[in-house]
Amino acid sequence: MSFLQLTDVTKFYGSTCAVQSMNLSVEKGEFVSLLGPSGCGKTTTLQMVAGFEAVSSGRIALAGRDITHAKANTRGLGIVFQSYALFPHMTVADNVSFGLEMRKVPKSERKERVAQALGLVHLEKHAGRYPRELSGGQRQRVALARALVIEPPVLLLDEPLSNLDAKLREEMQFELRQIQRKVGTTTVMVTHDQSEAMSISDRVVVMEAGRATQIDHPHRVYEHPRTRFISTFVGKANLVPGQVTTASATHTHVGAGPIEVRVEGAQFRPGAAVLLSVRPEKLQLVPAVQGRIDGEVCERFFLGSQWLYRVGTGMGDLMVLAPNDGRSALEEGERTGLDWPDHCMRLLPAQEAALAD
Ligand code: ATP
Repeated sequence: MSFLQLTDVTKFYGSTCAVQSMNLSVEKGEFVSLLGPSGCGKTTTLQMVAGFEAVSSGRIALAGRDITHAKANTRGLGIVFQSYALFPHMTVADNVSFGLEMRKVPKSERKERVAQALGLVHLEKHAGRYPRELSGGQRQRVALARALVIEPPVLLLDEPLSNLDAKLREEMQFELRQIQRKVGTTTVMVTHDQSEAMSISDRVVVMEAGRATQIDHPHRVYEHPRTRFISTFVGKANLVPGQVTTASATHTHVGAGPIEVRVEGAQFRPGAAVLLSVRPEKLQLVPAVQGRIDGEVCERFFLGSQWLYRVGTGMGDLMVLAPNDGRSALEEGERTGLDWPDHCMRLLPAQEAALAD
């Protein structure tokens, strides 16, 4: 059995189903992110694990113990919210020490553990300051130290970095991951930021309208999105409607515009309406007539390390990300060919629905 296990966890608010039959197994030491757009049920899921919201049905187990109906304060979990929720009248050290005092940890041990926790987040020198004397990033680190100092079995993070500016947020992402690796605390984080979830997590739970539609390693989610929504929410994707012409045990052929596209795998029957999905960076610009399809550059955008092109083709407009090699780029109006490796094409059902297992 996994360290933290959610089995068929469902939450209704009146007639609104906020979370529907959530099944999730988190291993000890794992960092799992709940990722999805606003209102998809991420926070509600976390709140049920924390014990702040009652489940409508289903079961939550921690280290083999059923905690479905256990009071929040008996679960002993570490929690960090977006708002930090530090006590403004207490110093950094007292904020971090608070949870230990509540647990009646002796003073000498408290001092040692607070110093250790502050060392972990590089705030030893700020122990005597008040929250108002700290930057946003420092406050967030105090909140993290306060949650970690009690050595919780599970650390729950709800959008912990969303109050920080973009650069600090990126720095804190790496720091958070480093600290989590060092301490080894099993962590569940809520975020709506796909790049944050992808870069920090061991596994990502993508949620859509209360349901977990894909639970997988970040690389798998990116390379093999299971729904149309995931293919565009996690990274960018070109989606081209098509129809399956033939399907063998290992390959599927799809008619898309003027060409037939070969796709690895066989999930669909001939005649099925599908969407071809391909990432912009998987499309290669080749000389006109040498590609699988030709097109014309309609627009181009300079992104620094890359160029983003919109190329009009018989399959529709395709976005192409090409590395900036320092030489001249294609001009708007120029003809180009497009090529791609077979294994980079994915198939999704034309109807917006999750693929069955
Ligand atoms: P966000 O990223 O905006 O915080 P979320 O993915 O965390 O969104 P939840 O806060 O879990 O989403 O909300 C899921 C659904 O449940 C939403 O439709 C929301 O309106 C509803 N909901 C959440 N809390 C309550 C509540 N206390 N009473 C009624 N409905 C609620």
